[in-house]
Amino acid sequence: MELSRNAMKITASATLEIDSKAKKMKADGIDVVGFGAGEPDFDTPSFIIDAAKKALDEGKTRYTPASGVLELKEAICNKFKKDNSLDYNSKQIIVCNGAKHALYNIFQAILNPGDEVIIPSPYWLSYPEMVKMAGGIPVFVETKKEDQFKVNYDDLTSVITSHTKAMILNSPNNPTGSVYKIDELKMIADLAVKNKFFVVSDEIYEEILYDGTKHISIASLNSQIKDQTLVVNGLSKSFAMTGWRIGYVAGREDIISVMSNIQSHSTSNPNSIAQYASITALKGPKESVKKAVSEFDKRRKYIYNRINSIVGLSTVMPKGAFYIMLDVSQLIGKNYKGKTITGSTSFSNLLLDAQNVAVVPGIAFGIDSAVRLSYATSMDNIIKGMDRIEAFVKELD
Ligand code: PMP
Ligand code: GLU
Repeated sequence: MELSRNAMKITASATLEIDSKAKKMKADGIDVVGFGAGEPDFDTPSFIIDAAKKALDEGKTRYTPASGVLELKEAICNKFKKDNSLDYNSKQIIVCNGAKHALYNIFQAILNPGDEVIIPSPYWLSYPEMVKMAGGIPVFVETKKEDQFKVNYDDLTSVITSHTKAMILNSPNNPTGSVYKIDELKMIADLAVKNKFFVVSDEIYEEILYDGTKHISIASLNSQIKDQTLVVNGLSKSFAMTGWRIGYVAGREDIISVMSNIQSHSTSNPNSIAQYASITALKGPKESVKKAVSEFDKRRKYIYNRINSIVGLSTVMPKGAFYIMLDVSQLIGKNYKGKTITGSTSFSNLLLDAQNVAVVPGIAFGIDSAVRLSYATSMDNIIKGMDRIEAFVKELD
């Protein structure tokens, strides 16, 4: 009995897989250093936890409208106005079960079989799988280290065809940490308007920025691009709420309405208690995220300097998010105790076996000459992990 051909093309999420492997090793008493999944290592701020408890006590335990409660949508509209100078009304907002689900719903809503979606590479690993699940075709466009992993005009125009339906923009970027500047966004917006394709703008890391870098939403550039953009965001990263599963999308009312219909037949509303707590989160103080960013920044600088001090490794300084790419291209062909490093997967496996350090192979993000480290882990772990990586690299011949 054959299973769905479409579903059989989908791979498991390597980030989640590696994270659960590292967590299991830890539970088994192994002293593992996990640079795997990107999830803030801070607790959800207590004022948000209190709001969830209050929601429970008040009996906010029933179905809500499938696309989310009005009060939360209004809080999201206020957030867009305040943080991104974007005007949306509540009918232009849908609340989903995390930003991942928000993205999934978008591709289900906009793609027809054979539609192409441009994905700058390296990319967050779920994008191509979600596009394929919706019958679309991922079209990758390489970004270069010398462009700080941002797509340039020539490379982008070379992949636009009459089948291009959308492009994914992720700034601040997972896994590279790059952040697009206004001129780069204008270039993309002009091409999207001229060639009539949507921009799916994943802004989940908008609060996590360094060196005074500013986040600009591409939708805020002009009304035409706003109409063609679906802005994705959520509470997972900014409020350390990964397990609560609240994400959202802002966009054209007709698209949001199609997404709401899909959601009404698939998941129904996101968790009611998490929705009510999210209203408080969005209206509340930003101190916790500011503190987290300043902590991430110290780790970023430390890890960058350590990587660049190890002969055979190199990296680019991230400007946002909490990931860093460790370029292992100079180590390909070298051996660890008779086993050859052939790419990012063998590097990651050998490192885990030899030193109990978990990293995500770049191949999962479309780049086999690098691995990704998340520095959303304690400074002690980072120091220990970098010592072990250094020891591992020194043992290669
Ligand atoms: N987009 C990017 C770029 C991510 O790294 C993640 C991972 N959390 C998501 C979306 C999904 O976030 P959420 O946990 O809200 O589903
Ligand atoms: N987005 C995070 C990461 O890239 C969490 C895991 C996931 O959702 O893939 O590690």
